[in-house]
Amino acid sequence: MTLLEDLPLVDNHCHGVVSSLDDRAAFENLMNEGFDPPPPGTSHLESPIGLGVRRWCAPILDLEPLAPAGDYFERRQALGAEEANRRLLRAARIGSFCIDTGYRSSEVMDVAGMAETAGATAREVVRIEAVAEQVAGSEVAAERYADAFGAALDERSEGAVGLKTVVAYRGGFGLDSAPPSDAEVARAARGWLGAIESGRGPRLQDPVLLRHALWTAADVARRRGLPLQVHAGFGDPDLDIHLTNPSVFTPWVRALQPLGVNIVFLHCYPYHREAGYLAAVYPHVYFDLGASLNYAGPSADRLLAEAMEVAPFSKQLFSSDAFGLAELYVSGAALFREGLRGVLDGWVAGGRCSASDADEIAAAMGAGNARRIYPLDTG
Ligand SMILES: [Zn+2]
Repeated sequence: MTLLEDLPLVDNHCHGVVSSLDDRAAFENLMNEGFDPPPPGTSHLESPIGLGVRRWCAPILDLEPLAPAGDYFERRQALGAEEANRRLLRAARIGSFCIDTGYRSSEVMDVAGMAETAGATAREVVRIEAVAEQVAGSEVAAERYADAFGAALDERSEGAVGLKTVVAYRGGFGLDSAPPSDAEVARAARGWLGAIESGRGPRLQDPVLLRHALWTAADVARRRGLPLQVHAGFGDPDLDIHLTNPSVFTPWVRALQPLGVNIVFLHCYPYHREAGYLAAVYPHVYFDLGASLNYAGPSADRLLAEAMEVAPFSKQLFSSDAFGLAELYVSGAALFREGLRGVLDGWVAGGRCSASDADEIAAAMGAGNARRIYPLDTG
């Protein structure tokens, strides 16, 4: 499986890295999806993700694999964030980044900065709800909201390679899949914009406007030939995880099928088997394990094996879902490569798959599938 080692991966969902880390607490907080510091006397590194980072990143900073967390952080600070970012991002051997720019984007490096630091190509994925919130904060009149959002999303999508929705974080997948009427949208927009005017934050939570945002995005995606990414499963405490099972999104999967828009479920854990089922039976459904690989650390190979139980190999993608820490690109990519190699080597050794089959599966999951469904080489 030398092919997999040398293969420049396509990371179909990630974010930028931070340009500096104030202290160990800031470092640790980027290794946990929760919003809280670890309980007193414990560390976020005492976890599978901590093992993965120490295993794969320590050698890149000239330490032994699995060097103690304190030594690792000290060495990182001694090198400086710029040098650590450059070394780590380049060592991940990711050839192409698809970067979600809609989350805490002022805190992390932009798309061009990521490309330069990593020595790779980087393209943008536009977060749908973030665009709606920007429009709502621009003093637009409620009757004009629907048109203004449609125009803004279309404009932002120029040159982007995908659109992403976080409805999982806004009440979950139980959202009615019928498009709302113009009157319903105008009424809901009046309520939302009125609340913003009276001082409430712009967070889009209204189910009618979320449905409208998704249908508007589906139309933009259809016209521009972009996939629609859908956060599913594993994420921060803003979501109720049982409401983010991809199977709950099935009415939307059916409703969007006639548009010919590809849907990519991101992360999915612990519902990656449900995602695999949907990918097996719907031609326009794809998925990855994303952040789950990093958070599973030494168990990432088992997750990959489960994801590969029934899903076609042509429907699975790689992502790191790295945010903030360059380490997470390294460990995400390494856990993907190592886990996939472990699964496929076992199949080849058992005579269940040929060596050339294994190479083809690895090339497809690591890069080829993403290159087929994202317009990475245009624009
Ligand atoms: Zn993410």
